[in-house]
Amino acid sequence: MDRRTFLHFLTAAAASSALTGRTRADGLPRPAPVPGGVAIVNLGPGPSAPLARFNGERGLVTGEASGWYAVVGIPLDAKVGATLPVSVERPGREPETIALEIGRKRYATQHLSVKPEQVELSPEDLARHEQERAHLRVVLRTFSDSAPDSLLLLQPCEGSRSDSFGKRRFFNRQPRSPHNGLDIAAPDGTPVVAAGAGNVLDVGDYFFSGQTLILDHGRSFLTLYAHLSAIDAKTGDRVAAGKRIGSVGATGRVTGPHLHFSVYLNAAAVDPELFIS
Ligand code: ZN
Repeated sequence: MDRRTFLHFLTAAAASSALTGRTRADGLPRPAPVPGGVAIVNLGPGPSAPLARFNGERGLVTGEASGWYAVVGIPLDAKVGATLPVSVERPGREPETIALEIGRKRYATQHLSVKPEQVELSPEDLARHEQERAHLRVVLRTFSDSAPDSLLLLQPCEGSRSDSFGKRRFFNRQPRSPHNGLDIAAPDGTPVVAAGAGNVLDVGDYFFSGQTLILDHGRSFLTLYAHLSAIDAKTGDRVAAGKRIGSVGATGRVTGPHLHFSVYLNAAAVDPELFIS
């Protein structure tokens, strides 16, 4: 079996758990090797954790000496059918590249017609947004060494979860970035809790996402909470899973109160549903 087939085999095995014995009960997210999804790559046994990079970003490796797994976040803009190189380094061995084939996933498309002034930013707003985007890009590439307490997450607030992750939006036929999170509809003031244990990495009031908090769970696994009406934690705080960190609001560019919740692995926004039990 060639390397690619082998990898498919492993991904399928992880999904069925028949061969690896690992299931969501063992704490791994649901595998979905598609744009915006997560691939679980079996790296085999070894005395210490291999180092893995995806798309140039250092990625999350979990497991123990009897078996290591890379948990790869696949960017939403990854091309279906393309191969994403996963480079693996093990102490005392030649680096190895594993080709991860990106499967198909169809996300909905939404076309909206709006007044031009509603989508075109003033020069001041555009300058502000670009500065914020550059800041967030750096924050979202954070890799800290401590292992996450868990790779499974709590739903961060009560409310109904929309299936809008990955939706491609067009305003007046102009494409916008695909929706990179899960929206949870909830009234203003609804408590928002940490989806997992982590450190508060960033708190800010941003043009598009409004009052926003980002948690670092370790090894590039991050969660982001946007449009908050209040934030109850500050940068550097350690919070437990389920601890209140803020309240649902409608800050930033939104039409009504809801929580926008994003999950990042190796700086790629991935579908939060894969992590919520
Ligand atoms: Zn959203």
